[in-house]
Amino acid sequence: MNKQRYSRQREIVLNAVKARRDHPTADQIYLDVRSVDEKISRGTVYRNLNLLAENGDISTVNSPSAERYDLRCDKHYHVICRTCKKVFDAPVEYNRDLDSYVSDETNFKIENHVMIFEGVCPDCQKENK
Ligand SMILES: [Zn+2]
Ligand SMILES: [Zn+2]
Repeated sequence: MNKQRYSRQREIVLNAVKARRDHPTADQIYLDVRSVDEKISRGTVYRNLNLLAENGDISTVNSPSAERYDLRCDKHYHVICRTCKKVFDAPVEYNRDLDSYVSDETNFKIENHVMIFEGVCPDCQKENK
């Protein structure tokens, strides 16, 4: 595989992540990418997702159902629907004070913390009525 083709594929994968706001899974990204380039393989998409995450171009969310990808790389919290498993950004500012507090109390070098709010999204609430 030559370098040019390689980076073009990575670009397609990156654009697919950036096109969504719902923190897609690798499988969802694969389906989106296939609609742009039908020759790209699942392995290539997964490998590029890992590389992009390692490079800090995108980040990952360890949601209870599956690992999901996030176009935002700044620290932020998430809201997860327990019915449809969609993940959204929580409108709460990241609390750095918690990191320093826990760091002081435990002598850990705290790097970050993860907060996930769980519930039922507006769409799923409508369906259950
Ligand atoms: Zn839902
Ligand atoms: Zn997010």
